[in-house]
Amino acid sequence: MKNHRNTPAPLFERIRDVFKHGFTIDWVTASFISITHVICLIATPVAYVYAPEGFWKIMLGWTLIHALVGSLSTTVYSHRLVSHGAAKYVSWPVHIVFGFIGQVMAMQGSVRRWAAMHVIHHGVDRSGKHELDPYSATWFKSTWRNFVWSHMLTYFFHHPDTAAREKAYAVKNSAPLVWQDKLYLPLLVILNFLLPLVLGYFLTDSVVGALCLMVASIGGFILAQHNTWTVNSVTHMWGVTKGAFSSAKNNYIWMGPLGEGNHHADHHDFARDYRNGFGWSGWLLDPTRYVILMLRGLGLVKGLQRATKRQEAEIIARRELYYAQVKTQPTRWETWEARLETLKAEWLEATHQWEAFKAKRMTLKSMSLPKFELQEKLDVLKAEMEVARRAMKARKQAFFDGIHEMLVMPCQTSAQV
Ligand SMILES: [Zn+2]
Ligand SMILES: [Zn+2]
Repeated sequence: MKNHRNTPAPLFERIRDVFKHGFTIDWVTASFISITHVICLIATPVAYVYAPEGFWKIMLGWTLIHALVGSLSTTVYSHRLVSHGAAKYVSWPVHIVFGFIGQVMAMQGSVRRWAAMHVIHHGVDRSGKHELDPYSATWFKSTWRNFVWSHMLTYFFHHPDTAAREKAYAVKNSAPLVWQDKLYLPLLVILNFLLPLVLGYFLTDSVVGALCLMVASIGGFILAQHNTWTVNSVTHMWGVTKGAFSSAKNNYIWMGPLGEGNHHADHHDFARDYRNGFGWSGWLLDPTRYVILMLRGLGLVKGLQRATKRQEAEIIARRELYYAQVKTQPTRWETWEARLETLKAEWLEATHQWEAFKAKRMTLKSMSLPKFELQEKLDVLKAEMEVARRAMKARKQAFFDGIHEMLVMPCQTSAQV
């Protein structure tokens, strides 16, 4: 069985050890993040106290909308559509609204840079070179160092793996990304600072009002930043691991306002999916997919990528087998492995058959047959699909029964004895 990489050995003892490995401080980014955080912490309460009467509602609304727009643009656009190519076609209105406006308000670097870093982050799952991960949560021995590094501190440094970064950056070279990258700095100043300043002055006719709205804007992008960073830190450190093939974890509670981190292990195991998780909990805890589906409904994105039912089953089976292997005695595993692999193959084949019927139904519906003839064919197909669906369910149950039997039966036998 393939080796797992979800618990790689730590690379560093302490954070200062990174200096010995070629890291240098990125003074511009480190200063910007530090200063804006200090301004946010100190100026926000002051702004709410000294804001013109009633203006606090506008400030709060501005912060929340800014955070939502910035976060959504990161999850929908920079992450799923650009980094992972979750849609074959993305229209210019989406590039403009999410890329040239929203992602600039998220204040996490240009989309091109962001996507390049994220592709490297996922590449570690295949290459195992976790020293390349731009925001690794596994580099250090202690939990708190891993958290601080992956969540925020990583952005304070120039990483030494420049070649890998520049290569990933060069690949993301479509026209919208290149232009967003070029215009990033002026847009950043306009949207995050000048716009709230001018609007605040216009609404309150005072410099204090202008500054208050700018402080609200800073609060908005800081919330958006932490929303994203939480996915890099928390969901790579805490949650359900159970056989996942990366350091990412699954969580089945609301992780962050847009739920991007809820099924992070599922996402890592099938990254180009426009969805973030499998099954009903994936639907429930993935608001970003609703936005992508809405964009598809409006014709603004086309050709959404998703794992087939068979691919999902394969990932789930692979995790179950890995989990079963580590939970059982090597000698017992050896006697069971072939049988479990057969049960897995039968489940996957039954799933494939059911999906083939689904595809056949879609083809039939797209044909211009006379209504009665179409109905007749669909009725026959419906009966065949029901048989295939039951077979798929039965094969899945047989696979899980096999795992259960291997793990639990010896205990029952010894208890009876
Ligand atoms: Zn991740
Ligand atoms: Zn991703």
